[in-house]
Amino acid sequence: MARARDPIADLRRIAFLLERANEATYRVRAFRSAAKALAGLPAAELTERAGNGTLTELAGVGDVTARCVAESLAGEEPVYLRRLVATEGSDLDAEATALRAALRGDCHTHSDWSDGGSPIEEMALAAVELGHEYLVLTDHSPRLTVARGLTAERLRRQLDHVAQVNAALPEGFRILTGIEVDILADGSLDQDDDLLARLDVVVGSVHSGLKDERSKMTRRMLKVVANPHLDILGHVTGRMVSSRPAGVTGPGDRGHRARTRAESDFDADAVFAACAEHDTAVEINSRPERQDPPKRLIRRALEAGCRFAINTDAHAPGQLDWQRFGCERAALCGVPADRVINTWSAEQLVAWTHNRT
Ligand SMILES: [Zn+2]
Ligand SMILES: [Zn+2]
Repeated sequence: MARARDPIADLRRIAFLLERANEATYRVRAFRSAAKALAGLPAAELTERAGNGTLTELAGVGDVTARCVAESLAGEEPVYLRRLVATEGSDLDAEATALRAALRGDCHTHSDWSDGGSPIEEMALAAVELGHEYLVLTDHSPRLTVARGLTAERLRRQLDHVAQVNAALPEGFRILTGIEVDILADGSLDQDDDLLARLDVVVGSVHSGLKDERSKMTRRMLKVVANPHLDILGHVTGRMVSSRPAGVTGPGDRGHRARTRAESDFDADAVFAACAEHDTAVEINSRPERQDPPKRLIRRALEAGCRFAINTDAHAPGQLDWQRFGCERAALCGVPADRVINTWSAEQLVAWTHNRT
């Protein structure tokens, strides 16, 4: 049977493009090793293994390369290759700069009401200085006790406080109300519905059971993505790629110091398809130790038609300037500004979130 595409050639092409783009050597090597491992395989075995999902049993073949092969064999240009080709020849530095310049606010930030290190006022003033038009305040929900998550009562008090702070802030800037609400094990949200409906922006994140098995995690995420209160799916995989970066101090992110954590396992294509269907934005979390989702998943979310929010998840004023990191990763994946909800004005953003609930 004639193949529409040559998967080995596709893997080699990806390696070449990654290398030319000066990407990390280990990444280039992953595609070259996979190409080498698979080149020696009889065509029938390759097809069979791609079909029953056993390509990854071969030394040198990982999840990403196996998926590229499966797409190739199905006659499609692998998503990974398509996104690389789409960004080929563009000045990624200029693209990242343009994307950063297009951002008008930040949709995921913490204050000292939960596990941030600074008062709301200070976070807001730093955002004003950065040129933002708005800052969404998203302190944690009750279940996250280690982060002093806000009870319904404390959140109501915070809303009153934010109204007072807003009255004193410069014209043309405002704090939008919000929450980073825990996604509970059953996919429900850890805050009262009436409060969630009242908030301008709802970010939902998984902070527990990150090692749950694939089908359970997929169910949990599909359920929450369909929840009309949820606007943005936060740090999608929960991974930690490095310890706390230098200069990052303060009470924020307690327990996140000096450790790495694997991505949680779920059916990303199903979850992103649901995000596109329910118009739930996928967060590109800019924190250097998170870099979540990884680029291969940003590429898949983009292909699925998702919107994005490029957020800092800042726990201190200086961290509000970390959006650049998220923009660089978004640019590498070819995310256009018109898919990013925080390129909108505060009015457009709030119109969108309220229209969804
Ligand atoms: Zn979080
Ligand atoms: Zn957060």
